[in-house]
Amino acid sequence: MIRTILLGPPGAGKGTQAAKMVEQYHIPHISTGDIFRENIKNGTELGKRAKEYMDRGELVPDDLVIEIATDRLTKDDCKDGFILDGFPRTVHQAEELDKFLAGRGEKLSVVINLEVGDEELMKRLTGRRVCKKCGASYHIVNMPPKKEGICDVCGGELIQRADDNEETARNRIRVYDEQTKPLIDYYEKAGIIANINGEKGLENTFSEIRKALEA
Ligand code: AMP
Repeated sequence: MIRTILLGPPGAGKGTQAAKMVEQYHIPHISTGDIFRENIKNGTELGKRAKEYMDRGELVPDDLVIEIATDRLTKDDCKDGFILDGFPRTVHQAEELDKFLAGRGEKLSVVINLEVGDEELMKRLTGRRVCKKCGASYHIVNMPPKKEGICDVCGGELIQRADDNEETARNRIRVYDEQTKPLIDYYEKAGIIANINGEKGLENTFSEIRKALEA
Protein backbone atom coordinates (compact mmCIF):
# COMPACT_ATOMS: atom_id res chain seq x y z
CA MET A 1 0.00 0.00 0.00
CA ILE A 2 1.46 3.33 -1.06
CA ARG A 3 0.56 6.31 1.08
CA THR A 4 3.15 8.85 0.15
CA ILE A 5 4.05 12.51 0.23
CA LEU A 6 6.07 14.31 -2.41
CA LEU A 7 8.16 16.82 -0.53
CA GLY A 8 10.49 19.36 -2.11
CA PRO A 9 10.73 23.01 -3.09
CA PRO A 10 8.54 24.59 -5.77
CA GLY A 11 9.90 23.51 -9.15
CA ALA A 12 11.42 20.26 -7.86
CA GLY A 13 9.20 18.26 -10.20
CA LYS A 14 6.57 17.03 -7.74
CA GLY A 15 3.65 17.43 -10.12
CA THR A 16 5.52 15.85 -13.05
CA GLN A 17 6.60 12.84 -11.00
CA ALA A 18 3.15 12.53 -9.45
CA ALA A 19 1.63 12.19 -12.93
CA LYS A 20 4.01 9.30 -13.67
CA MET A 21 3.22 7.68 -10.35
CA VAL A 22 -0.51 7.80 -11.09
CA GLU A 23 0.10 5.92 -14.33
CA GLN A 24 2.26 3.34 -12.58
CA TYR A 25 0.29 2.72 -9.39
CA HIS A 26 -3.26 3.87 -10.18
CA ILE A 27 -3.70 5.81 -6.98
CA PRO A 28 -5.01 9.40 -6.75
CA HIS A 29 -2.72 12.43 -6.98
CA ILE A 30 -3.81 15.03 -4.45
CA SER A 31 -2.34 18.48 -4.98
CA THR A 32 -3.63 21.17 -2.62
CA GLY A 33 -2.28 23.80 -5.07
CA ASP A 34 -4.42 22.27 -7.86
CA ILE A 35 -7.47 22.25 -5.57
CA PHE A 36 -6.96 25.95 -4.80
CA ARG A 37 -6.41 26.85 -8.48
CA GLU A 38 -9.60 24.97 -9.40
CA ASN A 39 -11.49 26.94 -6.76
CA ILE A 40 -10.04 30.23 -8.03
CA LYS A 41 -11.14 29.33 -11.56
CA ASN A 42 -14.65 28.57 -10.32
CA GLY A 43 -14.81 31.75 -8.22
CA THR A 44 -15.61 29.97 -4.95
CA GLU A 45 -15.25 31.55 -1.50
CA LEU A 46 -12.34 29.18 -0.77
CA GLY A 47 -10.66 30.29 -3.99
CA LYS A 48 -11.05 33.96 -3.07
CA ARG A 49 -9.48 33.41 0.34
CA ALA A 50 -6.60 31.32 -1.02
CA LYS A 51 -5.78 33.64 -3.94
CA GLU A 52 -4.55 36.56 -1.85
CA TYR A 53 -1.85 34.34 -0.33
CA MET A 54 -0.99 32.46 -3.51
CA ASP A 55 -0.49 35.65 -5.52
CA ARG A 56 2.20 36.71 -3.04
CA GLY A 57 3.83 33.28 -2.99
CA GLU A 58 2.87 32.82 0.64
CA LEU A 59 1.26 29.86 2.35
CA VAL A 60 -2.49 29.65 2.72
CA PRO A 61 -3.36 29.45 6.47
CA ASP A 62 -3.02 25.99 8.01
CA ASP A 63 -6.63 25.54 9.14
CA LEU A 64 -7.94 26.11 5.62
CA VAL A 65 -5.45 23.72 3.99
CA ILE A 66 -5.81 20.98 6.60
CA GLU A 67 -9.56 20.97 6.15
CA ILE A 68 -9.50 20.63 2.37
CA ALA A 69 -6.72 18.02 2.39
CA THR A 70 -8.24 15.75 5.04
CA ASP A 71 -11.64 16.14 3.44
CA ARG A 72 -10.16 14.94 0.14
CA LEU A 73 -8.48 11.99 1.88
CA THR A 74 -11.81 10.71 3.19
CA LYS A 75 -13.00 10.12 -0.41
CA ASP A 76 -13.40 6.54 -1.49
CA ASP A 77 -10.61 6.54 -4.07
CA CYS A 78 -7.99 7.06 -1.33
CA LYS A 79 -8.66 3.79 0.43
CA ASP A 80 -6.02 1.94 -1.61
CA GLY A 81 -3.38 4.63 -1.24
CA PHE A 82 -2.63 8.19 -2.35
CA ILE A 83 0.07 10.62 -3.46
CA LEU A 84 0.09 13.92 -1.61
CA ASP A 85 1.78 16.74 -3.55
CA GLY A 86 2.34 20.09 -1.85
CA PHE A 87 0.74 19.00 1.41
CA PRO A 88 1.83 19.12 4.19
CA ARG A 89 3.93 22.29 3.98
CA THR A 90 4.32 23.14 7.68
CA VAL A 91 5.12 21.04 10.74
CA HIS A 92 1.64 21.78 12.09
CA GLN A 93 0.07 20.43 8.89
CA ALA A 94 2.26 17.32 9.17
CA GLU A 95 1.20 16.72 12.76
CA GLU A 96 -2.46 17.13 11.87
CA LEU A 97 -2.06 14.73 8.95
CA ASP A 98 -0.47 12.13 11.24
CA LYS A 99 -3.35 12.50 13.69
CA PHE A 100 -5.92 12.22 10.92
CA LEU A 101 -4.34 9.05 9.51
CA ALA A 102 -3.85 7.50 12.96
CA GLY A 103 -7.55 8.06 13.62
CA ARG A 104 -8.27 5.85 10.61
CA GLY A 105 -5.67 3.24 11.54
CA GLU A 106 -3.47 4.34 8.66
CA LYS A 107 0.04 5.71 8.34
CA LEU A 108 2.38 7.06 5.69
CA SER A 109 4.54 4.48 3.95
CA VAL A 110 7.31 6.75 2.69
CA VAL A 111 8.04 10.43 2.14
CA ILE A 112 9.85 11.25 -1.10
CA ASN A 113 12.08 14.29 -0.73
CA LEU A 114 13.07 15.71 -4.14
CA GLU A 115 16.28 17.71 -3.93
CA VAL A 116 16.99 20.48 -6.48
CA GLY A 117 19.28 23.53 -6.12
CA ASP A 118 17.90 27.09 -6.06
CA GLU A 119 19.32 28.21 -9.39
CA GLU A 120 17.79 25.24 -11.21
CA LEU A 121 14.48 25.82 -9.41
CA MET A 122 14.28 29.40 -10.67
CA LYS A 123 14.94 28.27 -14.25
CA ARG A 124 12.25 25.62 -14.01
CA LEU A 125 9.63 27.85 -12.42
CA THR A 126 10.01 30.84 -14.71
CA GLY A 127 10.10 28.58 -17.82
CA ARG A 128 7.13 26.47 -16.79
CA ARG A 129 3.91 26.59 -18.80
CA VAL A 130 0.73 24.76 -17.89
CA CYS A 131 -2.37 23.81 -19.85
CA LYS A 132 -5.31 26.02 -18.97
CA LYS A 133 -7.68 23.14 -19.66
CA CYS A 134 -6.13 19.91 -18.33
CA GLY A 135 -3.25 21.17 -16.16
CA ALA A 136 -0.48 19.28 -18.00
CA SER A 137 2.92 20.84 -17.34
CA TYR A 138 5.62 21.88 -19.85
CA HIS A 139 8.88 23.83 -19.91
CA ILE A 140 9.81 26.22 -22.70
CA VAL A 141 13.34 24.71 -22.91
CA ASN A 142 13.39 21.34 -21.11
CA MET A 143 9.99 19.98 -22.13
CA PRO A 144 8.47 22.07 -24.91
CA PRO A 145 5.11 21.07 -26.38
CA LYS A 146 5.04 19.84 -30.00
CA LYS A 147 3.31 23.04 -31.06
CA GLU A 148 4.21 26.24 -29.26
CA GLY A 149 1.54 27.41 -26.81
CA ILE A 150 -0.67 24.34 -27.36
CA CYS A 151 -1.10 21.33 -25.04
CA ASP A 152 0.01 17.97 -26.55
CA VAL A 153 -2.56 16.12 -24.45
CA CYS A 154 -5.77 18.04 -25.04
CA GLY A 155 -5.04 20.92 -27.43
CA GLY A 156 -5.72 23.50 -24.72
CA GLU A 157 -3.93 26.83 -24.40
CA LEU A 158 -0.65 26.91 -22.46
CA ILE A 159 -0.26 29.70 -19.93
CA GLN A 160 2.18 30.78 -17.24
CA ARG A 161 0.98 30.27 -13.67
CA ALA A 162 0.32 33.60 -11.95
CA ASP A 163 2.86 32.72 -9.24
CA ASP A 164 5.65 31.59 -11.61
CA ASN A 165 6.87 35.13 -12.30
CA GLU A 166 10.41 35.81 -11.08
CA GLU A 167 9.55 37.78 -7.93
CA THR A 168 6.85 35.44 -6.64
CA ALA A 169 8.87 32.34 -7.53
CA ARG A 170 11.79 33.66 -5.48
CA ASN A 171 9.49 34.31 -2.55
CA ARG A 172 8.03 30.79 -2.78
CA ILE A 173 11.53 29.32 -2.52
CA ARG A 174 12.21 31.51 0.54
CA VAL A 175 8.90 30.45 2.12
CA TYR A 176 9.82 26.82 1.42
CA ASP A 177 13.21 27.23 3.17
CA GLU A 178 11.62 28.84 6.22
CA GLN A 179 8.40 26.90 6.68
CA THR A 180 8.54 23.62 4.76
CA LYS A 181 12.18 22.52 5.00
CA PRO A 182 11.79 21.62 8.72
CA LEU A 183 9.55 18.77 7.51
CA ILE A 184 12.64 16.94 6.26
CA ASP A 185 13.80 16.68 9.84
CA TYR A 186 10.31 15.74 11.01
CA TYR A 187 10.07 12.77 8.64
CA GLU A 188 13.73 11.84 9.09
CA LYS A 189 13.00 11.38 12.78
CA ALA A 190 10.05 9.19 11.85
CA GLY A 191 12.47 7.12 9.75
CA ILE A 192 10.36 7.28 6.58
CA ILE A 193 12.18 9.76 4.35
CA ALA A 194 13.82 8.92 1.02
CA ASN A 195 16.10 11.70 -0.29
CA ILE A 196 16.20 11.71 -4.07
CA ASN A 197 18.28 13.88 -6.40
CA GLY A 198 15.79 15.67 -8.65
CA GLU A 199 18.38 16.98 -11.10
CA LYS A 200 19.25 13.72 -12.84
CA GLY A 201 16.53 13.82 -15.46
CA LEU A 202 12.88 12.87 -15.35
CA GLU A 203 13.26 9.12 -15.97
CA ASN A 204 16.20 8.62 -13.59
CA THR A 205 14.34 10.46 -10.86
CA PHE A 206 11.25 8.37 -11.45
CA SER A 207 13.23 5.15 -11.26
CA GLU A 208 14.70 6.25 -7.89
CA ILE A 209 11.19 7.04 -6.67
CA ARG A 210 9.98 3.60 -7.69
CA LYS A 211 12.81 1.97 -5.80
CA ALA A 212 11.92 3.94 -2.67
CA LEU A 213 8.21 3.15 -2.96
CA GLU A 214 8.75 -0.54 -3.59
CA ALA A 215 11.50 -1.05 -0.99
P1 AMP B 1 1.70 24.45 -5.52
O1 AMP B 1 0.83 24.23 -6.69
O2 AMP B 1 1.87 23.22 -4.67
O3 AMP B 1 3.03 25.07 -5.88
O4 AMP B 1 0.95 25.49 -4.59
C1 AMP B 1 0.66 26.81 -5.04
C2 AMP B 1 0.33 27.72 -3.86
O5 AMP B 1 -0.84 27.20 -3.19
C3 AMP B 1 1.38 27.81 -2.78
O6 AMP B 1 2.40 28.75 -3.08
C4 AMP B 1 0.53 28.21 -1.58
O7 AMP B 1 0.18 29.57 -1.64
C5 AMP B 1 -0.75 27.41 -1.79
N1 AMP B 1 -0.65 26.08 -1.12
C6 AMP B 1 -0.71 24.86 -1.72
N2 AMP B 1 -0.58 23.86 -0.82
C7 AMP B 1 -0.44 24.47 0.39
C8 AMP B 1 -0.22 24.00 1.71
N3 AMP B 1 -0.14 22.69 1.99
N4 AMP B 1 -0.13 24.92 2.71
C9 AMP B 1 -0.21 26.24 2.45
N5 AMP B 1 -0.38 26.74 1.24
C10 AMP B 1 -0.49 25.89 0.20
